[in-house]
Amino acid sequence: MRLNGNFSRLKNSYLFTEVGRRTAAYSSAHPERRIIRLSVGDVTLPLVPAVIHAMRQAVDELSRAETFRGYAPEHGYDFLLDAVRSDYVRKGISLFRDEIFVSDGAKSDCGNLSALFSADSTVLLPDPVYPAYLDVNLMAGRKVLYSRGTEENGFLPAPERGVHADIIYLCSPNNPTGAAYSKEQLGEWVDYAIGQGAVILFDAAYESFVRDEGVARSIYEVEGARTCAIEICSFSKTAGFTGVRCGYTVIPRELEREGVSLNRMWARRQSATYNGTSYVSQRGAEAALSEEGRRQISLSAERYRANAAAIMRCLGGLGVPYTGGRNSPYIWMKCPHGLDSWTFFGELLEQANVVGTPGVGFGEGGEGYFRLSSFGTEADTLEACERLSAYYNGKVR
Ligand code: PLP
Repeated sequence: MRLNGNFSRLKNSYLFTEVGRRTAAYSSAHPERRIIRLSVGDVTLPLVPAVIHAMRQAVDELSRAETFRGYAPEHGYDFLLDAVRSDYVRKGISLFRDEIFVSDGAKSDCGNLSALFSADSTVLLPDPVYPAYLDVNLMAGRKVLYSRGTEENGFLPAPERGVHADIIYLCSPNNPTGAAYSKEQLGEWVDYAIGQGAVILFDAAYESFVRDEGVARSIYEVEGARTCAIEICSFSKTAGFTGVRCGYTVIPRELEREGVSLNRMWARRQSATYNGTSYVSQRGAEAALSEEGRRQISLSAERYRANAAAIMRCLGGLGVPYTGGRNSPYIWMKCPHGLDSWTFFGELLEQANVVGTPGVGFGEGGEGYFRLSSFGTEADTLEACERLSAYYNGKVR
């Protein structure tokens, strides 16, 4: 027996664990200080009534012999597959039911999809980006290349000629930078992937935050994407399902490599290793996509948007460069005075008692930047803005 030595390529501590550890250490040394957390990408508003109602009903069904259900179909119940299809129709995209695979969330599939590709495939990752893509490919022993997001390219890197990759991860709207690709910009990636014979894994976990015309909500808005892209999506940020767990992955029928359908490979993989997302979660997700569910969710989304707008106003007023906030719950700000991400984290924690996420935790390209989240409560967000202003104006306690 030999262990997977690739685990030694992983950094010891997951970013949010380290943020939590440092925050807890400060908090226990200063119990009198109230710390405001604008760090974790978790939601704070409760599930909307339409979702709660559907989930209660689902639990009731499970309580009676005549309506009880056991294992869910491994690719998802038809009622949810059809609701997801209708949601795509609203975006002008038509999908077959067997192209959609219901999951327990985007993170699992971001990792598990890696099983479709050989260990010697080369992976291209944006930098900075959600750390899970890197970790899973390091564990699989793959070679990883980076496509650097910078202030100059608006944190939206474009494909580079002469760089070869087999698997390309894209995340738009991006975590952590909040930057979102236009259809034209995504079109460049689709052309590049087709030219390389590569496959794009497009993480659309934040698609529901897009509101600007011309910004893509799905990679399938781009012509040709059905032959080169897999889309991963989630109800976590859209509908507050971070604790409920439900998402889905789309693999078009046209997506083939080496004469093999990736859709059929994934169907086989899921039937071998996945026993389905819970009935209660899927009924909740169906309700989130219903007309009433979407109306109620848009009210929650408005509240997060208002928080993002408050943070943007605050940073704008202080003259701090930032991206994101418009089509994303995240605001990506530049650290002041050339400070590195962790030093700024420490200063803000100690002087303003505000916690954000150090940009370098999302890749080397994030050094010198800092992520703020709009998922906090309104009161906390407004107070955090006041404290940020006091910090910048040198008036901290
Ligand atoms: N993808 C991105 C880009 C994320 O930021 C997150 C969570 O923060 C996820 C996926 C995970 O989503 P889920 O809760 O559906 O697993």
